[in-house]
Amino acid sequence: MNILVTGGAGYIGSHTVIELMNSGHQVAVVDNLANSCEKSLERAAEIVGREIPFYKADIRDREGLSGAMKAHEDRTGQAFDCCIHFAGLKSPNESIRIPLEYYDNNITGTQVLLGELIRHGCKNMIFSSSASVYGSPAVIPVTEECPKGQCTNPYGWTKSMLEQILTDLQTADPEWNIVLLRYFNPIGAHESGLIGEDPNGIPNNLMPYITQVAAGRRKELNIYGDDYDTPDGTGIRDYIHVVDLARGHVKALGAIGNKCGLAVYNLGTGRGYSVLEVVRAFEEANGVKIPYIIRERRAGDVAVSYSDPAKAERELGWKAQYGITDMCRDAWNWQRKNPDGLSGR
Ligand code: NAD
Ligand code: UDP
Repeated sequence: MNILVTGGAGYIGSHTVIELMNSGHQVAVVDNLANSCEKSLERAAEIVGREIPFYKADIRDREGLSGAMKAHEDRTGQAFDCCIHFAGLKSPNESIRIPLEYYDNNITGTQVLLGELIRHGCKNMIFSSSASVYGSPAVIPVTEECPKGQCTNPYGWTKSMLEQILTDLQTADPEWNIVLLRYFNPIGAHESGLIGEDPNGIPNNLMPYITQVAAGRRKELNIYGDDYDTPDGTGIRDYIHVVDLARGHVKALGAIGNKCGLAVYNLGTGRGYSVLEVVRAFEEANGVKIPYIIRERRAGDVAVSYSDPAKAERELGWKAQYGITDMCRDAWNWQRKNPDGLSGR
């Protein structure tokens, strides 16, 4: 298929571009580089051994986006068959401080994108959603039938609202095929160590914080709470290797090809690890000590969240292949080889 990848220079997008190209698909990336740099695509091109067409554009900029799509269609003589839509702002903490920017970027951006896709005759989309739409999950492991919950920050609400907008669109126009992929906790990096997670400033997420402690950039890990109702008191999450997640998108194209209408899938491993278990797994996989200190619980965190990924296996034929040791090894390999990331932020 000929695929428009928005946000393809980012963490998950760049890994997905590689898996798409390795599976024989053609891609074009649109990204405004707000949270990434072109180097990630140069590295991805090095991995696949082919050029990756890139158009710098903001998805909120109708003319810029349309121009990029047209330029690519003219260049290749092919219309887009599907859009994989990663572009958006993604920090829950930041979204509490600047909610309007999150609603503008994520919601307005997606609305402009949908309008342009329609104008260009493309009614297929795979959307990056998040386990955060479940709020504090009513059922563990979390199935797709678990009711959506109260989100704890504007970022989560943008995902929840976008799911609703996309659902309403598909109901209004059944020619649309839309796959909502609810990611659990992507970590790790491509095994080459050429691309990986490149956070801006102090990492919010657990694994990049751990790798920066390992690299000596930060003194110790702050563990947010050891009094949760879990076996060791620390929060439990479903960590998934970013390459497994990327492959989930390739499989989701099968559902689009089969005219799925609206479909929702969890992408996780189905196995939860506590923060302390991740720290231990990282130390064992890499032979590096991670000093930590127990802090207060972080506002908005839930105690336990892990997926039931059976639906994706049954319907898409997708199952995570990598375990926590692989994730820890690849995350450290990337950080070690790129101590300041790609953009040196
Ligand atoms: P990322 O920030 O690395 O990638 C997002 C990309 O989108 C960046 O390259 C950024 O420059 C680009 N972008 C942002 N706003 C844009 C705009 N208006 N126009 C064009 N490009 C724009 O994030 P990621 O971790 O790769 O996440 C990708 C998607 O997956 C996001 O939608 C995110 O919300 C979602 N998601 C991520 C996680 C996670 O833990 N990383 C979990 C669940 C869902
Ligand atoms: N966490 C932590 N220290 C950190 C970052 C995260 O203890 O510096 C914990 C957090 O409380 C949660 C887990 O690690 O229990 C995963 O957090 P992350 O922010 O990576 O993902 P979330 O599930 O919150 O989106």
